[in-house]
Amino acid sequence: MSSSHLDGFIAELQSAGLPVQVDRPLSTLTTYMVGGTAAVSVTVSALQDLQTLAMITARHQDVPVHVVGRGSNTLISDAGVQGLVVVVSAPANEAVVDLIGDDVVVAGSVTMPVLARRSVKAGRAGLEWCVGIPGSVGGAVRMNAGGHGAEMIDSLQSALVVSLQSGQVVSVPTSDLGMHFRGSALAPHHIVAAAKFKTTSCDVSDGQKEIDAIVAWRREHQPGGRNAGSVFVNPAPGDGSAGALIDSCQLRGFQIGGAQVSEKHANFIQASDGATASDIVAVMSHVQDMVMQQHGVLLRSEVCLLGFDETIMGRFADPRHTDPDRVNASHALGRLMGDVDE
Ligand SMILES: Cc1cc2nc3c(=O)[nH]c(=O)nc-3n(C[C@H](O)[C@H](O)[C@H](O)COP(=O)(O)OP(=O)(O)OC[C@H]3O[C@@H](n4cnc5c(N)ncnc54)[C@H](O)[C@@H]3O)c2cc1C
Repeated sequence: MSSSHLDGFIAELQSAGLPVQVDRPLSTLTTYMVGGTAAVSVTVSALQDLQTLAMITARHQDVPVHVVGRGSNTLISDAGVQGLVVVVSAPANEAVVDLIGDDVVVAGSVTMPVLARRSVKAGRAGLEWCVGIPGSVGGAVRMNAGGHGAEMIDSLQSALVVSLQSGQVVSVPTSDLGMHFRGSALAPHHIVAAAKFKTTSCDVSDGQKEIDAIVAWRREHQPGGRNAGSVFVNPAPGDGSAGALIDSCQLRGFQIGGAQVSEKHANFIQASDGATASDIVAVMSHVQDMVMQQHGVLLRSEVCLLGFDETIMGRFADPRHTDPDRVNASHALGRLMGDVDE
Protein backbone atom coordinates (compact mmCIF):
# COMPACT_ATOMS: atom_id res chain seq x y z
CA MET A 1 0.00 0.00 0.00
CA SER A 2 1.68 3.21 -1.14
CA SER A 3 1.45 6.36 0.97
CA SER A 4 -0.24 8.20 -1.92
CA HIS A 5 -2.90 5.47 -2.06
CA LEU A 6 -3.41 5.79 1.69
CA ASP A 7 -3.67 9.58 1.27
CA GLY A 8 -6.39 9.06 -1.35
CA PHE A 9 -8.23 6.69 0.98
CA ILE A 10 -8.03 9.20 3.85
CA ALA A 11 -9.28 11.99 1.57
CA GLU A 12 -12.32 9.88 0.59
CA LEU A 13 -13.13 9.16 4.23
CA GLN A 14 -12.85 12.86 5.06
CA SER A 15 -14.99 14.00 2.19
CA ALA A 16 -17.68 11.54 3.25
CA GLY A 17 -17.77 13.37 6.59
CA LEU A 18 -16.39 10.47 8.63
CA PRO A 19 -14.30 11.37 11.71
CA VAL A 20 -10.83 10.31 10.56
CA GLN A 21 -7.73 10.29 12.73
CA VAL A 22 -4.24 9.71 11.37
CA ASP A 23 -1.58 8.07 13.56
CA ARG A 24 -4.13 7.65 16.30
CA PRO A 25 -2.77 6.33 19.63
CA LEU A 26 -4.67 3.12 20.41
CA SER A 27 -3.68 2.41 24.00
CA THR A 28 -6.72 4.16 25.46
CA LEU A 29 -9.01 1.94 23.38
CA THR A 30 -8.20 -1.33 25.13
CA THR A 31 -8.42 -2.53 28.70
CA TYR A 32 -4.70 -3.45 28.69
CA MET A 33 -3.95 0.19 27.80
CA VAL A 34 -0.80 -0.62 25.85
CA GLY A 35 0.18 -0.54 22.18
CA GLY A 36 1.12 1.88 19.41
CA THR A 37 -0.85 3.90 16.89
CA ALA A 38 -3.19 3.17 14.00
CA ALA A 39 -2.12 4.52 10.60
CA VAL A 40 -5.76 5.59 10.08
CA SER A 41 -8.73 5.32 12.41
CA VAL A 42 -12.43 6.08 12.14
CA THR A 43 -14.94 6.00 14.99
CA VAL A 44 -18.44 5.00 13.94
CA SER A 45 -21.68 4.50 15.80
CA ALA A 46 -24.63 4.95 13.44
CA LEU A 47 -25.49 2.24 10.89
CA GLN A 48 -25.57 4.90 8.19
CA ASP A 49 -21.93 5.84 8.90
CA LEU A 50 -20.95 2.17 8.83
CA GLN A 51 -22.58 1.82 5.43
CA THR A 52 -20.82 4.92 4.13
CA LEU A 53 -17.52 3.59 5.46
CA ALA A 54 -18.12 0.16 3.91
CA MET A 55 -18.75 1.67 0.47
CA ILE A 56 -15.35 3.37 0.67
CA THR A 57 -13.37 0.41 2.09
CA ALA A 58 -14.92 -1.83 -0.61
CA ARG A 59 -13.15 0.38 -3.17
CA HIS A 60 -9.82 0.17 -1.29
CA GLN A 61 -9.38 -3.52 -0.60
CA ASP A 62 -5.61 -3.23 -0.33
CA VAL A 63 -6.03 -1.26 2.93
CA PRO A 64 -6.09 -3.78 5.79
CA VAL A 65 -9.04 -3.24 8.15
CA HIS A 66 -9.39 -4.08 11.84
CA VAL A 67 -12.30 -3.54 14.22
CA VAL A 68 -12.15 -2.59 17.88
CA GLY A 69 -15.16 -2.46 20.18
CA ARG A 70 -14.53 -1.93 23.89
CA GLY A 71 -11.05 -3.45 23.56
CA SER A 72 -11.63 -5.86 26.46
CA ASN A 73 -10.32 -8.84 24.49
CA THR A 74 -7.62 -7.16 22.41
CA LEU A 75 -3.87 -6.72 22.73
CA ILE A 76 -2.33 -4.15 20.36
CA SER A 77 1.38 -4.38 19.53
CA ASP A 78 3.82 -1.66 20.53
CA ALA A 79 4.52 -1.15 16.82
CA GLY A 80 0.86 -0.26 16.25
CA VAL A 81 -1.37 -1.23 13.36
CA GLN A 82 -1.03 -0.69 9.61
CA GLY A 83 -4.14 0.23 7.66
CA LEU A 84 -7.51 1.22 9.08
CA VAL A 85 -8.77 0.65 12.61
CA VAL A 86 -12.54 1.05 12.90
CA VAL A 87 -13.69 1.86 16.41
CA VAL A 88 -17.32 0.87 16.96
CA SER A 89 -18.63 3.20 19.61
CA ALA A 90 -22.03 3.73 21.23
CA PRO A 91 -23.43 7.27 21.12
CA ALA A 92 -24.24 8.65 24.56
CA ASN A 93 -27.96 9.14 23.93
CA GLU A 94 -28.61 5.88 22.09
CA ALA A 95 -32.03 4.20 22.43
CA VAL A 96 -30.06 1.15 23.36
CA VAL A 97 -32.46 -1.73 23.64
CA ASP A 98 -35.57 -2.30 21.54
CA LEU A 99 -38.20 -4.85 22.44
CA ILE A 100 -40.04 -6.59 19.60
CA GLY A 101 -42.32 -9.21 21.11
CA ASP A 102 -40.02 -11.67 22.89
CA ASP A 103 -36.96 -10.36 21.05
CA VAL A 104 -34.41 -7.89 22.32
CA VAL A 105 -32.70 -5.93 19.53
CA VAL A 106 -29.58 -3.96 20.29
CA ALA A 107 -26.80 -2.09 18.44
CA GLY A 108 -23.45 -3.87 18.22
CA SER A 109 -21.76 -0.95 19.97
CA VAL A 110 -23.80 -1.32 23.15
CA THR A 111 -21.98 -2.84 26.10
CA MET A 112 -22.93 -6.24 27.45
CA PRO A 113 -23.68 -4.93 30.98
CA VAL A 114 -26.08 -2.35 29.48
CA LEU A 115 -27.75 -5.12 27.43
CA ALA A 116 -28.20 -7.23 30.58
CA ARG A 117 -29.52 -4.41 32.76
CA ARG A 118 -31.88 -2.87 30.17
CA SER A 119 -33.30 -6.29 29.28
CA VAL A 120 -34.06 -7.14 32.90
CA LYS A 121 -35.51 -3.69 33.50
CA ALA A 122 -37.87 -4.37 30.60
CA GLY A 123 -38.89 -7.70 32.20
CA ARG A 124 -36.91 -9.91 29.80
CA ALA A 125 -34.88 -12.91 30.99
CA GLY A 126 -31.98 -14.83 29.45
CA LEU A 127 -29.28 -12.16 29.10
CA GLU A 128 -28.50 -11.56 32.79
CA TRP A 129 -25.10 -13.30 32.46
CA CYS A 130 -24.00 -10.59 29.98
CA VAL A 131 -23.56 -8.20 32.91
CA GLY A 132 -20.23 -9.90 33.69
CA ILE A 133 -18.68 -9.30 30.26
CA PRO A 134 -17.10 -5.83 29.93
CA GLY A 135 -17.18 -5.81 26.11
CA SER A 136 -19.52 -4.69 23.36
CA VAL A 137 -22.31 -6.83 21.91
CA GLY A 138 -20.50 -6.88 18.53
CA GLY A 139 -17.26 -8.10 20.09
CA ALA A 140 -19.19 -10.69 22.09
CA VAL A 141 -20.93 -12.02 18.97
CA ARG A 142 -17.61 -12.40 17.16
CA MET A 143 -16.03 -14.11 20.18
CA ASN A 144 -19.14 -16.11 21.10
CA ALA A 145 -18.49 -14.75 24.59
CA GLY A 146 -19.87 -16.71 27.49
CA GLY A 147 -20.00 -17.19 31.21
CA HIS A 148 -22.15 -18.41 34.08
CA GLY A 149 -23.32 -21.41 32.05
CA ALA A 150 -24.40 -19.47 28.96
CA GLU A 151 -22.88 -18.13 25.76
CA MET A 152 -24.00 -15.84 22.95
CA ILE A 153 -25.05 -18.66 20.64
CA ASP A 154 -27.71 -19.76 23.18
CA SER A 155 -29.92 -16.71 22.70
CA LEU A 156 -28.63 -14.92 19.60
CA GLN A 157 -31.10 -15.18 16.73
CA SER A 158 -29.37 -13.09 14.10
CA ALA A 159 -26.78 -10.40 13.61
CA LEU A 160 -26.87 -7.46 11.23
CA VAL A 161 -23.43 -7.63 9.63
CA VAL A 162 -21.68 -5.00 7.49
CA SER A 163 -18.92 -6.18 5.18
CA LEU A 164 -16.10 -3.68 4.77
CA GLN A 165 -15.05 -5.74 1.76
CA SER A 166 -18.26 -5.92 -0.28
CA GLY A 167 -20.04 -2.90 1.21
CA GLN A 168 -23.12 -5.07 1.83
CA VAL A 169 -25.28 -5.18 4.95
CA VAL A 170 -26.89 -8.56 5.64
CA SER A 171 -29.04 -9.93 8.46
CA VAL A 172 -27.26 -13.22 9.17
CA PRO A 173 -29.06 -15.97 11.10
CA THR A 174 -27.03 -17.42 13.98
CA SER A 175 -26.77 -20.76 12.19
CA ASP A 176 -24.70 -19.02 9.47
CA LEU A 177 -22.31 -17.26 11.84
CA GLY A 178 -20.16 -20.37 12.39
CA MET A 179 -20.05 -19.82 16.15
CA HIS A 180 -17.86 -22.13 18.20
CA PHE A 181 -16.20 -22.00 21.60
CA ARG A 182 -14.90 -18.41 21.92
CA GLY A 183 -14.99 -17.69 18.22
CA SER A 184 -17.04 -17.43 15.04
CA ALA A 185 -16.70 -17.37 11.25
CA LEU A 186 -16.86 -13.55 11.18
CA ALA A 187 -13.84 -12.16 9.30
CA PRO A 188 -11.80 -9.11 10.39
CA HIS A 189 -13.68 -7.03 7.78
CA HIS A 190 -17.13 -7.96 9.16
CA ILE A 191 -18.76 -5.57 11.62
CA VAL A 192 -21.74 -6.55 13.76
CA ALA A 193 -23.97 -3.48 13.59
CA ALA A 194 -26.86 -4.98 15.58
CA ALA A 195 -27.97 -8.23 17.19
CA LYS A 196 -31.32 -9.83 17.93
CA PHE A 197 -31.80 -12.11 20.95
CA LYS A 198 -34.69 -14.30 21.99
CA THR A 199 -35.71 -13.84 25.61
CA THR A 200 -38.44 -14.96 27.98
CA SER A 201 -40.42 -12.86 30.40
CA CYS A 202 -39.20 -12.43 33.98
CA ASP A 203 -40.04 -10.75 37.20
CA VAL A 204 -37.85 -7.62 37.26
CA SER A 205 -36.77 -8.09 40.88
CA ASP A 206 -35.76 -11.74 40.25
CA GLY A 207 -33.71 -10.66 37.24
CA GLN A 208 -32.10 -7.86 39.27
CA LYS A 209 -31.15 -10.35 42.01
CA GLU A 210 -29.46 -12.57 39.45
CA ILE A 211 -27.55 -9.61 38.05
CA ASP A 212 -26.42 -8.58 41.54
CA ALA A 213 -25.24 -12.15 42.24
CA ILE A 214 -23.21 -12.27 39.02
CA VAL A 215 -21.60 -8.88 39.72
CA ALA A 216 -20.72 -10.02 43.27
CA TRP A 217 -19.26 -13.31 41.94
CA ARG A 218 -17.09 -11.42 39.43
CA ARG A 219 -15.80 -9.03 42.11
CA GLU A 220 -14.88 -11.94 44.36
CA HIS A 221 -13.23 -14.18 41.77
CA GLN A 222 -11.69 -11.90 39.14
CA PRO A 223 -9.09 -9.15 39.41
CA GLY A 224 -9.85 -5.54 38.49
CA GLY A 225 -7.33 -3.24 36.85
CA ARG A 226 -5.77 -3.56 33.43
CA ASN A 227 -6.37 -6.98 31.92
CA ALA A 228 -8.32 -8.60 29.08
CA GLY A 229 -10.03 -11.37 31.00
CA SER A 230 -8.94 -14.95 30.32
CA VAL A 231 -5.80 -14.94 28.19
CA PHE A 232 -5.86 -18.56 27.02
CA VAL A 233 -8.79 -20.59 25.74
CA ASN A 234 -9.64 -23.63 27.80
CA PRO A 235 -8.11 -26.57 25.94
CA ALA A 236 -9.95 -29.68 24.81
CA PRO A 237 -12.22 -31.45 27.31
CA GLY A 238 -10.13 -33.62 29.64
CA ASP A 239 -7.09 -31.33 29.52
CA GLY A 240 -8.37 -29.18 32.40
CA SER A 241 -9.05 -25.46 32.38
CA ALA A 242 -6.28 -23.16 31.17
CA GLY A 243 -6.30 -21.49 34.60
CA ALA A 244 -5.83 -24.81 36.43
CA LEU A 245 -2.97 -25.81 34.11
CA ILE A 246 -1.20 -22.48 34.66
CA ASP A 247 -1.82 -22.72 38.39
CA SER A 248 -0.26 -26.17 38.59
CA CYS A 249 2.92 -24.68 37.05
CA GLN A 250 2.92 -22.25 40.01
CA LEU A 251 2.95 -19.24 37.75
CA ARG A 252 0.72 -16.91 39.77
CA GLY A 253 2.69 -13.68 40.26
CA PHE A 254 5.18 -14.50 37.46
CA GLN A 255 6.30 -11.14 36.05
CA ILE A 256 8.21 -9.69 33.12
CA GLY A 257 8.52 -5.90 33.01
CA GLY A 258 5.09 -4.43 33.72
CA ALA A 259 3.11 -7.62 33.01
CA GLN A 260 2.27 -10.23 35.63
CA VAL A 261 0.20 -13.40 35.91
CA SER A 262 -2.60 -12.37 38.25
CA GLU A 263 -2.32 -13.53 41.86
CA LYS A 264 -6.13 -13.80 41.90
CA HIS A 265 -6.78 -15.73 38.67
CA ALA A 266 -3.99 -17.66 36.94
CA ASN A 267 -5.49 -17.19 33.46
CA PHE A 268 -5.44 -13.37 33.73
CA ILE A 269 -2.39 -11.22 32.98
CA GLN A 270 -2.31 -7.81 34.65
CA ALA A 271 -0.60 -4.77 33.15
CA SER A 272 0.82 -2.09 35.43
CA ASP A 273 2.21 1.39 34.82
CA GLY A 274 4.98 1.23 32.25
CA ALA A 275 3.82 -2.12 30.84
CA THR A 276 4.30 -2.72 27.13
CA ALA A 277 2.59 -5.12 24.77
CA SER A 278 5.95 -6.91 24.49
CA ASP A 279 5.93 -7.51 28.26
CA ILE A 280 2.47 -9.09 28.00
CA VAL A 281 3.48 -11.28 25.06
CA ALA A 282 6.64 -12.31 26.92
CA VAL A 283 4.57 -13.46 29.91
CA MET A 284 2.14 -15.26 27.57
CA SER A 285 5.06 -17.02 25.87
CA HIS A 286 6.56 -18.16 29.17
CA VAL A 287 3.21 -19.44 30.41
CA GLN A 288 2.64 -21.29 27.13
CA ASP A 289 6.13 -22.87 27.30
CA MET A 290 5.72 -23.97 30.93
CA VAL A 291 2.29 -25.55 30.35
CA MET A 292 3.64 -27.35 27.26
CA GLN A 293 6.69 -28.60 29.18
CA GLN A 294 4.79 -29.78 32.23
CA HIS A 295 1.50 -30.97 30.70
CA GLY A 296 2.09 -31.37 26.95
CA VAL A 297 -0.85 -29.03 26.29
CA LEU A 298 -0.59 -26.18 23.77
CA LEU A 299 -2.47 -23.13 25.02
CA ARG A 300 -3.84 -20.76 22.38
CA SER A 301 -4.74 -17.14 22.89
CA GLU A 302 -8.32 -16.12 23.56
CA VAL A 303 -7.17 -12.50 23.41
CA CYS A 304 -7.16 -11.05 19.85
CA LEU A 305 -3.64 -9.97 18.88
CA LEU A 306 -3.44 -6.92 16.62
CA GLY A 307 -0.37 -5.64 14.76
CA PHE A 308 2.01 -8.47 15.71
CA ASP A 309 4.33 -10.28 13.31
CA GLU A 310 3.56 -13.71 11.87
CA THR A 311 5.75 -15.52 14.40
CA ILE A 312 3.75 -14.20 17.33
CA MET A 313 0.42 -14.66 15.54
CA GLY A 314 1.32 -18.23 14.61
CA ARG A 315 2.52 -19.07 18.08
CA PHE A 316 -0.79 -18.21 19.71
CA ALA A 317 -3.23 -19.00 16.87
CA ASP A 318 -5.98 -21.52 17.28
CA PRO A 319 -4.68 -24.70 15.62
CA ARG A 320 -8.27 -25.53 14.68
CA HIS A 321 -8.65 -22.53 12.36
CA THR A 322 -7.78 -24.75 9.39
CA ASP A 323 -10.34 -27.45 10.31
CA PRO A 324 -12.58 -28.08 7.28
CA ASP A 325 -15.76 -27.24 9.20
CA ARG A 326 -14.35 -23.86 10.24
CA VAL A 327 -12.98 -23.10 6.76
CA ASN A 328 -16.31 -24.04 5.15
CA ALA A 329 -18.23 -21.86 7.61
CA SER A 330 -15.97 -18.86 6.82
CA HIS A 331 -16.37 -19.34 3.07
CA ALA A 332 -20.15 -19.73 3.37
CA LEU A 333 -20.42 -16.55 5.45
CA GLY A 334 -18.17 -14.71 2.99
CA ARG A 335 -20.46 -15.73 0.12
CA LEU A 336 -23.52 -14.61 2.08
CA MET A 337 -21.86 -11.23 2.66
CA GLY A 338 -20.97 -10.87 -1.03
CA ASP A 339 -17.25 -10.75 -0.26
CA VAL A 340 -15.43 -10.66 -3.54
CA ASP A 341 -12.74 -13.27 -2.96
CA GLU A 342 -15.21 -16.01 -1.93
C1 LIG B 1 -12.37 -8.48 33.38
C2 LIG B 1 -12.78 -9.20 32.13
C3 LIG B 1 -13.59 -10.31 32.22
C4 LIG B 1 -13.96 -11.00 31.04
N1 LIG B 1 -14.77 -12.09 31.18
C5 LIG B 1 -15.15 -12.75 30.06
C6 LIG B 1 -16.00 -13.90 30.17
O1 LIG B 1 -16.42 -14.31 31.24
N2 LIG B 1 -16.35 -14.55 29.03
C7 LIG B 1 -15.92 -14.12 27.80
O2 LIG B 1 -16.29 -14.74 26.79
N3 LIG B 1 -15.12 -13.03 27.67
C8 LIG B 1 -14.73 -12.34 28.78
N4 LIG B 1 -13.91 -11.25 28.64
C9 LIG B 1 -13.41 -10.86 27.31
C10 LIG B 1 -14.24 -9.80 26.57
O3 LIG B 1 -14.95 -8.96 27.46
C11 LIG B 1 -15.21 -10.43 25.58
O4 LIG B 1 -14.56 -11.23 24.62
C12 LIG B 1 -16.00 -9.32 24.84
O5 LIG B 1 -17.07 -9.90 24.19
C13 LIG B 1 -15.15 -8.55 23.82
O6 LIG B 1 -15.88 -7.43 23.39
P1 LIG B 1 -15.10 -6.09 23.00
O7 LIG B 1 -16.07 -5.13 22.45
O8 LIG B 1 -14.29 -5.62 24.14
O9 LIG B 1 -14.16 -6.66 21.87
P2 LIG B 1 -12.75 -6.13 21.39
O10 LIG B 1 -11.70 -6.51 22.38
O11 LIG B 1 -12.83 -4.72 21.00
O12 LIG B 1 -12.57 -7.04 20.09
C14 LIG B 1 -12.54 -8.45 20.22
C15 LIG B 1 -12.78 -9.05 18.83
O13 LIG B 1 -14.10 -8.70 18.41
C16 LIG B 1 -14.03 -7.92 17.23
N5 LIG B 1 -15.07 -6.90 17.32
C17 LIG B 1 -15.23 -5.91 18.21
N6 LIG B 1 -16.36 -5.21 17.97
C18 LIG B 1 -16.94 -5.78 16.89
C19 LIG B 1 -18.10 -5.53 16.12
N7 LIG B 1 -18.98 -4.54 16.41
N8 LIG B 1 -18.37 -6.34 15.06
C20 LIG B 1 -17.54 -7.35 14.73
N9 LIG B 1 -16.40 -7.62 15.39
C21 LIG B 1 -16.11 -6.87 16.46
C22 LIG B 1 -12.62 -7.37 17.15
O14 LIG B 1 -12.24 -7.13 15.81
C23 LIG B 1 -11.84 -8.51 17.76
O15 LIG B 1 -11.64 -9.53 16.81
C24 LIG B 1 -13.52 -10.55 29.79
C25 LIG B 1 -12.69 -9.41 29.70
C26 LIG B 1 -12.33 -8.74 30.86
C27 LIG B 1 -11.46 -7.52 30.75
